[in-house]
Amino acid sequence: MTADFSQKLSTLAAAAKYDASCASSGSSSSAGGNPAGKGSVYGNQGSGYGDRGSFGVRVPAGVCHSWTGDGRCVSLLKVLYSNVCRYNCAYCVNRVSSDTPRASFTEDELVSLTCEFYRRNYIEGLFLSSGIFSDPDIVMEKLTAVARKLRREAGFGGYIHLKIIPGSGETLIREAGLWADRLSANIELPTEKSLRSLAPEKSGKLIFGAMGEVSLAKAQAEEDRRHKLKAPAFAPAGQSTQLIVGASGEDDRTIIGLSGALYKKYSLKRVYYSAYMPVVSDASSGLPEISSPPLLREHRLYQADWLMRFYHFESREILDEAHPFLDTALDPKTVWALNHPERFPVEIKKADYEELLRVPGLGAVSARRILGARRQRPLNFEGLRRLGVVLKRARYFITLGGAFLDRFDDPSRLRRILSGGEDLQLPLFNF
Ligand code: SF4
Repeated sequence: MTADFSQKLSTLAAAAKYDASCASSGSSSSAGGNPAGKGSVYGNQGSGYGDRGSFGVRVPAGVCHSWTGDGRCVSLLKVLYSNVCRYNCAYCVNRVSSDTPRASFTEDELVSLTCEFYRRNYIEGLFLSSGIFSDPDIVMEKLTAVARKLRREAGFGGYIHLKIIPGSGETLIREAGLWADRLSANIELPTEKSLRSLAPEKSGKLIFGAMGEVSLAKAQAEEDRRHKLKAPAFAPAGQSTQLIVGASGEDDRTIIGLSGALYKKYSLKRVYYSAYMPVVSDASSGLPEISSPPLLREHRLYQADWLMRFYHFESREILDEAHPFLDTALDPKTVWALNHPERFPVEIKKADYEELLRVPGLGAVSARRILGARRQRPLNFEGLRRLGVVLKRARYFITLGGAFLDRFDDPSRLRRILSGGEDLQLPLFNF
């Protein structure tokens, strides 16, 4: 690798590493190459946020760790095709008005770099995005061409995540899904009003249009395959998006309401939340002045999102007009349970799967284990513990054969206990 190419890789890796939409953990670059300085951000149609730390391992520039849907940790080469951009998103270091160093790969450079890193076992796949250096169709064609060449000419069998450039044509989006495992178009901000203010060249209509095209093409491909036609798979790992939290003034209710709608309407696999990190010092930018990124808020949003995706909660069950923000002291499922005493206690010997899922502290694995064990033998609290059921929070919300482990009729006191504001000597069991 020549020094020039190494510098280019550092520049384009640094510009891409904050995009959370591939669940990146951030990267550790041996080249140390964030040209805009530590904490600088963003760039790409997916821009992105949030260096969540690294594994502390020296790896080549651009290699980051990500998690798959089933919890496996994978390494990806995460880069921009180009950080040249015509747009002027207020929060992005690659906006047109920024004086950050610019660079662009060629298709062949990216293909050989990906293959070389793959052959050396540095990576299991590629995450590719880009600044908007030309018309959306031309940018999208470049990204698609890299994926096409990797699959067709280089025989690359690893994972590919391509960013969709909103405004690019249907044909290109449909072709991208034939080569990529996952596609993502980042919504970035929760309302059209915020997009107009902070990312004026972006359009919610175009972003949703791209998501709709992916969703439709995927549904059609799956339908074709069901009928045993010789149809190729389309983006088999689905599509995702990213929302920046705290750059604009929307409340959590607006954010999870949008996420809930996106899951339903476009069958998204994931919405990634990225705490806004201030990197642009421009008083006229319209960005809030904050001293640190709102990481706890981001964490609570992920918990609320989990409730919608896996526990069948509707967004309106989690927050309402009177409670527009998630509780910082307690997780959203516990808050829901405390607000719905009529749903508790849940009788472990009789409850169905859905009822078990609503108990704070019980997850899908515990619920399934309880149902399985219940068919084979009578359960007691010690038996629950042996099943691996964690009762630290659940103990206040369940009965077993009518017996309470801990009975609490005072929701305010229980709230204080669960949020750590009151110490309680737990009787009987030390779970
Ligand atoms: S489109 Fe916006 S977020 Fe993406 S690189 Fe350009 S300025 Fe940055």
